[in-house]
Amino acid sequence: MVFGLIHNPNVLSGSYFWTYSSLWVLLMVTKHRRAFKFTKTNVIMFILAYIMADVISAIVHIYLDHSTITNDGSVLDAQRRGFRYHHPLDHVAKKLLDPTFEPYYEMNYVYPYALFIIIIANFVNLTLRNFMVYLATMICLFQATHLYAHASILLEDPNYIDKAHVPWCISLLQKYHIILPPNHHKLHHEHKKHGINFAIFHGLTDPLINFIYTSFLKGY
Ligand SMILES: [Zn+2]
Ligand SMILES: [Zn+2]
Repeated sequence: MVFGLIHNPNVLSGSYFWTYSSLWVLLMVTKHRRAFKFTKTNVIMFILAYIMADVISAIVHIYLDHSTITNDGSVLDAQRRGFRYHHPLDHVAKKLLDPTFEPYYEMNYVYPYALFIIIIANFVNLTLRNFMVYLATMICLFQATHLYAHASILLEDPNYIDKAHVPWCISLLQKYHIILPPNHHKLHHEHKKHGINFAIFHGLTDPLINFIYTSFLKGY
């Protein structure tokens, strides 16, 4: 069922977004309340999830940049195209400034997978369950951190400076490298073959990912 939803282009509609979001909030306030408890184990699990989410974002990005576009009309194929075509920064600028673009629908791409993790989390012990809750939540956020990095890149461009807007709290998180900093992500776009800095959540794992990519995956 989950993969059926991912394959369906209607998954990008607003009704899906509100359904997923409501389900998410419902699960958090009922099933997974204990993930919000401030304990030493939860802090460690949160940090591990923070690292793991960044690595997953890089793996997904490497896959989408390198897999073949099949034009089969699926959402996965639309994502492949989206990532491949978003490399010229002007293209992203047009997309972000298009008044019909609904950035929060981007979360629909990952919501079904993340909800799947949340459901599986019910069958494991509490420590692992909380780790999975943090991980799934962060996975939902990584397209947002990616888009905000691009919005901040626009702010540096004299052609777009008046049109882009980034909330101050997001700029602060970017400045301290807690979420993806614009200049860090810009290197991916400016690289000749887009072969560096694949992570789109915060990018702190990029040195390791870059090493693995250049050592073992360059021909992929
Ligand atoms: Zn890319
Ligand atoms: Zn990008």
